Amino acid sequence: MHIQWFPGHMHKAAKQVREALPEVDILIEVLDARIPFSSQNPMIAEIIGDKPCIKLLNKSDMADPEMTAIWQEYFEKNDNVRTIATNVKGSGQLRQITDLCHRMVPNKGRAGDHRVINAMIIGIPNVGKSTLINGLAGRTIAKTGNEPAVTKQQQRIKLEHGIILIDTPGMMWPKIDHENSGYRLAATGAIKETATDNTDVAFAVAEYLLEAYPERLVDRYKLESVPESEIELLEAIGRLRGSLRSGGSILLEKVSNILISELRSGFLGPITMEDPARVEKEQTEVVIA
Ligand code: GDP
Repeated sequence: MHIQWFPGHMHKAAKQVREALPEVDILIEVLDARIPFSSQNPMIAEIIGDKPCIKLLNKSDMADPEMTAIWQEYFEKNDNVRTIATNVKGSGQLRQITDLCHRMVPNKGRAGDHRVINAMIIGIPNVGKSTLINGLAGRTIAKTGNEPAVTKQQQRIKLEHGIILIDTPGMMWPKIDHENSGYRLAATGAIKETATDNTDVAFAVAEYLLEAYPERLVDRYKLESVPESEIELLEAIGRLRGSLRSGGSILLEKVSNILISELRSGFLGPITMEDPARVEKEQTEVVIA
């Protein structure tokens, strides 16, 4: 799979973060709880150093709660990192986020203090940054939408709680140094459909689900037993949904789209696509140039 990120955008975003950083007290990094590793921006850890950072595992309503807890523990091994599992679309946990900002930056932003906490929101496209900003501000400021990679002006939003939000500077790109990260980003919808082949993504999804959530597949697709291969699973879905050619073979492209869209819509239940052990193993494998 080949995914093109534009070096111009990358350098610009990196430069903007570096330039803004001296006045930033805390970072709020929004991640997709279904892919907490692959939805990171690879430059962030390096640039921010030991600045306090809240990692939001957002869209936690669509992720596997047990896995979310494992990821939170993993990230919090880092002393300057704290995490919250959020569903910012459902308006949850907003107060928890501002309270945590105050706890992590204790010397600013208290009642009567004229100095406010500068919190920079960062994250790759489509993780929920605009929804979060609108929720915290209590009004519509940032444009939300399902279309990734919409560029916009950087803005500052003053909250009531002694906090100023600084919007994501420029466009941040996700972490794709292993092809599986690319597949997971495509499966969850972070990468535009046109950039990837849905059939490849569906095979990668099928392989993972057969290993990690076989019982969900059996339930959803009324299977008698767990299929032994990805193609066997796709064939079963094709038969069930009538996506067949006249000769009886499946319409692979169509079946691939069914599996991916049902995963994204949550019809297979809350699913997390990666865990720390898996990504650590992948990091030791072949790296895409
Ligand atoms: P941004 O590109 O990072 O600013 O992301 P948006 O705020 O535009 O959100 C992208 C899509 O994800 C929108 O369709 C949101 O409604 C949806 N979304 C955001 N947060 C959540 C969440 O916590 N749960 C779910 N299920 N969807 C969310």
